[in-house]
Amino acid sequence: MAAHAIQPLSNLTTSAIGLVLLTAGHLRGWPIPKGGSGQIAQALATYFQSLGGKIETNFYVESLQQLPSSHAVLFDITPRQLLKIAGHTFSPLYRWQLERYRYGMGIFKIDWALDAPIPFTDENCRNAGTLHLGNTLQEITDTEKLSSQGGYPEKPFVLLAQQSQYDPSRAPEGKHTAWAYCHVPNGSTRDRTEAIENQVERFAPGFKDRILARHVMNTAQVQEHNPNYIGGDINGGILDITQLFTRPALRFSPYRTSTKGLYICSSSTPPGGGRTWHVRLSCGPQGLTGRIPDSGKSDANSLSVSIGRGSVPENRCLSLL
Ligand SMILES: Cc1cc2nc3c(=O)[nH]c(=O)nc-3n(C[C@H](O)[C@H](O)[C@H](O)COP(=O)(O)OP(=O)(O)OC[C@H]3O[C@@H](n4cnc5c(N)ncnc54)[C@H](O)[C@@H]3O)c2cc1C
Repeated sequence: MAAHAIQPLSNLTTSAIGLVLLTAGHLRGWPIPKGGSGQIAQALATYFQSLGGKIETNFYVESLQQLPSSHAVLFDITPRQLLKIAGHTFSPLYRWQLERYRYGMGIFKIDWALDAPIPFTDENCRNAGTLHLGNTLQEITDTEKLSSQGGYPEKPFVLLAQQSQYDPSRAPEGKHTAWAYCHVPNGSTRDRTEAIENQVERFAPGFKDRILARHVMNTAQVQEHNPNYIGGDINGGILDITQLFTRPALRFSPYRTSTKGLYICSSSTPPGGGRTWHVRLSCGPQGLTGRIPDSGKSDANSLSVSIGRGSVPENRCLSLL
């Protein structure tokens, strides 16, 4: 589970990340949203709109001039984009800190359409929603170390989800879907399809015969799909000991930038990557309706929010990018 941290297992923070994920699993399992994780964003958006919030999408923000005048702008992006958009307004120290922010390993991802469930030999694996395929601890330790050093293990640690086992809306009746990824060096364009599929076949003989179609993404395509995934890093920056609590920079409040009214609230801030715990904590303990420091009041009726590729909200109180 600690290998979910996307860094060598010898790094100090990996056991903490493993513990959080295990605890979440023991408490509530790892739930699968019906219809896909986009439904969670949709539910949040619907609630936000019910409070009077306004959302605009499909707009890629490249400069502050594109945003309306606001008491506060919350950026759900990583330091690299933030520097491009607002770097000229930051103090030299804060800019220097953001420029030194480090990104971690990327992912190579495959989505499959299958004509039957994955035939894992082990019954527990057949029934699991999410699987970590790595065989022994030593094998996982070695492969994650090699990937973090720029190498490509023959038998990579593979994270696999088979949601259609529990959510029939994911595939036509009798058919199935699954996705998997392995960790690769940041920015890698190497095709890892064969290595990932061999690893699944190793624990589920006959798997390859069930593949109807596949869609693959290397790290460049992962970043094209979501500009927050710099070099394929889905954690918004490596979560090692020097960047776990001090992301994106060592400051009293990591969410406040050096420019009044500009905030960063993405996975590049504590507690780091992962949508599971991210939304509420990174917006502050009071969540979206809470008071934003030095921004004046921020009641829900005056919020504007952008999800996905940006927004140009008309009302003036708070913009969320
Ligand atoms: C395949 C996969 C599986 C995962 N599984 C899990 C899991 O099981 N559990 C878990 O907790 N986490 C998981 N994660 C990680 C999790 O999704 C991310 O860590 C989390 O979504 C990051 O949140 P964020 O708010 O920083 O950014 P995001 O959720 O990526 O949101 C940022 C948004 O801003 C948009 N954007 C970026 N730049 C701009 C710009 N300049 N203008 C306008 N819009 C912009 C992006 O397009 C994106 O829509 C997974 C990720 C992937 C890819």
